[in-house]
Amino acid sequence: AKKEGRNVLRFFDPQMQETIAKRTALEGDLRKAIENHQFQLHYQIQVDESRHPFGAEALIRWFHPEHGMVSPDQFIPLAEESDLILPIGYWVLETACARIQRWQHDAKTSGFVLSVNVSAKQFRQTDFVNQVQSLIQQYEINPSLLKLELTESMLLDNIEDTIATMSALKELGVKFSLDDFGTGYSSLQYLKRLPLDQLKIDQSFVRDIAVDASDRAIVRTIIAMAHSLDLDVIAEGVETEEQQKHLSSKGCKNFQGYLFGKPVPIEQFETSLRKSLFQ
Ligand code: C2E
Ligand code: CA
Ligand code: CA
Ligand code: CA
Repeated sequence: AKKEGRNVLRFFDPQMQETIAKRTALEGDLRKAIENHQFQLHYQIQVDESRHPFGAEALIRWFHPEHGMVSPDQFIPLAEESDLILPIGYWVLETACARIQRWQHDAKTSGFVLSVNVSAKQFRQTDFVNQVQSLIQQYEINPSLLKLELTESMLLDNIEDTIATMSALKELGVKFSLDDFGTGYSSLQYLKRLPLDQLKIDQSFVRDIAVDASDRAIVRTIIAMAHSLDLDVIAEGVETEEQQKHLSSKGCKNFQGYLFGKPVPIEQFETSLRKSLFQ
């Protein structure tokens, strides 16, 4: 009973009330953000071992009229709690498909693969496969240029449903990357049942790879797992040459991180791309 009493007191903690009020306000603002055109996709380049660009990851940005840019780490969890992630996730997917349509018709970007983050709730919608199929048809895109980034925890949640949904999407021709790999509980046992194309090494293993032998061992294991499953590997959060060298020496051939480019608005992305391709 004493414990409960303390919780009640905590609820009336003025600071906590302020936090709740802020969240509620933010949620209200989030509800109007799509129609008010406050979202943008930023694009981060992905390169191969010779630094040749082959794709990008789309990352959402919210430009709040008063708070300025709000980080997705702040509003995506909020959107996931309130179901707002569904219209937001659809907006991301549609905007990405529109981008792929343009890229595939430009000789300089015709083989470019665009990776899109998909949240658990979005993936679990009963009509998710239909949504993706309709967008592919509507924008007349080559489906293999669309890569969906999924996380371990969301896939483990209901493995049979996961396999069914992924297989249906796979039949459409879309690709899959397993994001933040190494932070969950994946075993080879279930990984081999998923129709994945790529494992993405989480940036937490990349950060200290030059100084931490256990991070190097983990990265080596992840790459060995990927190869035994016949999957591509990409490392995220690569900031230094030294990190890239360590990753390369372990057999990683694809990279993403500030060393190659930060996530930037589309105009800037395409300008940089044109410059580097003209080299
Ligand atoms: P994530 O999918 O793991 O994305 C990678 C994050 O690392 C991005 O943060 C990116 O800007 C950042 N990053 C990239 N390179 C480097 C680097 O070299 N060093 C460091 N320190 N960081 C780097 P961001 O853009 O703030 O996104 C955070 C998270 O929000 C994403 O993590 C993803 O989980 C989520 N998110 C972003 N966009 C979307 C979206 O469109 N839909 C959904 N469902 N989630 C999204
Ligand atoms: Ca991602
Ligand atoms: Ca990630
Ligand atoms: Ca992350």
